[in-house]
Amino acid sequence: ASAMASEIEAALAAVPSDGPTIFDKIINKEIPANVVFEDDKVLAFRDIAPQAPTHILIIPKVRDGLTRLSKAEERHCEILGRLLYTAKLVAKQEGLEDGFRVVINDGPQAGQSVYHIHVHVLGGRQMNWPPG
Ligand code: 5GP
Repeated sequence: ASAMASEIEAALAAVPSDGPTIFDKIINKEIPANVVFEDDKVLAFRDIAPQAPTHILIIPKVRDGLTRLSKAEERHCEILGRLLYTAKLVAKQEGLEDGFRVVINDGPQAGQSVYHIHVHVLGGRQMNWPPG
């Protein structure tokens, strides 16, 4: 299968749940990640299967029910803002002055495969529209 198909297969195989994910292991340093930015609230690290020369994931260190954007509640507004602001910091740090794309996949139809909310930052090449 193509890389594209296996991404979709992974997303469709990922049952949306409230359980622990691979990102907990990254937060707890049980598995390694290439961390590019970290503060007390968020962690940013390189995607293991990059879809662009720069492909970084930004996650909250505490999930607090935010498995996916569609689960957002009023109490999450601060962390949601922090995730987006971190995207700006990371893009600058990565030298993406010609532009970059921010993506949040929500649910199976969007191809979400990890149920711990994450912001993708993609850059370093021309992005296409419409996205796939
Ligand atoms: P989603 O498809 O849910 O929007 O994005 C999940 C992303 O996490 C995918 O792009 C996938 O490549 C990435 N990913 C999954 N497991 C790992 C891992 O163990 N380490 C890192 N760095 N990225 C991962």
